[in-house]
Amino acid sequence: MIDERKIALVTGGGRGIGRAIALELGKKGYSLAINYSRSADAAQKACSLVRATGQDAQAFQADVSDPSQVREMFKNISDTMGNVDVLVNNAGITRDNLMIRMKDEDWDKVISSNLSSVYYCSREALKKMVKARWGRIINLSSVVALIGNAGQANYVASKSGIIGLTKTMAREYGARGITVNAVAPGFIETDMTSVLSEEAKNSMLAQIPLGRPGTPEDIAKVVSFLSSDDAAYITGQVIAIDGGMTMC
Ligand code: NAP
Repeated sequence: MIDERKIALVTGGGRGIGRAIALELGKKGYSLAINYSRSADAAQKACSLVRATGQDAQAFQADVSDPSQVREMFKNISDTMGNVDVLVNNAGITRDNLMIRMKDEDWDKVISSNLSSVYYCSREALKKMVKARWGRIINLSSVVALIGNAGQANYVASKSGIIGLTKTMAREYGARGITVNAVAPGFIETDMTSVLSEEAKNSMLAQIPLGRPGTPEDIAKVVSFLSSDDAAYITGQVIAIDGGMTMC
């Protein structure tokens, strides 16, 4: 458990991997700000589950691809809970297609939701973390950022951009006691992957030495470690959590 009361913000924390991260951080003693854009009921349910572990949790609606909504959300969190000590940039979407069929709006939507959102949220969080001389930022990238993936040009570009942004933030703010790392999940069972065909799922499973898909909890445990003081000397890293799928 953490010694003092710290506040963690998980973007897209009401569902899937984000929800598991919020619950795990709650178990570690963090107060949780759970962001959502559309899934209000899921976010409230996630808050109830965190509160059941004895920690404070509140839901904050904002589309993190919109910088003015992000600014407003950080102000609301600061006014009601306090400054964000741990930021988990988890929110993400897919709009898959082959490049020659991809619509510009699907390119723009994925880049703004997955990559620009990390820039907007981290910029707001860093202002206070720099003053506090302590902070943790953990970004959700993907193994496809390391190896590419046909049919996901927009998504892969966004997740690769997150890696460059992670390393740059780590260099800019390391001297202020702030660590910035990325995790790169492989094939994790959530709503995002439930839409894949059985053929696509089986093809991915065949590439996983551990022989099973990952769970949101597999990701949450590593994010929780990276948010802790035990990970104080780790920054600018990308940790693949993929059952051995990539081994880059
Ligand atoms: P998911 O089940 O589809 O959940 C996505 C989450 O992102 C939801 O909570 C959603 O909230 C939120 N979100 C999306 N757009 C948002 C926006 N503009 N503003 C605020 N919240 C937004 O996805 P997941 O599988 O848990 O994925 C979580 C993260 O892990 C994503 O970044 C994803 O790219 C990454 N990842 C997943 C896998 C995998 O196999 N599942 C693998 C590699 C990386 P609302 O419903 O409220 O919009």
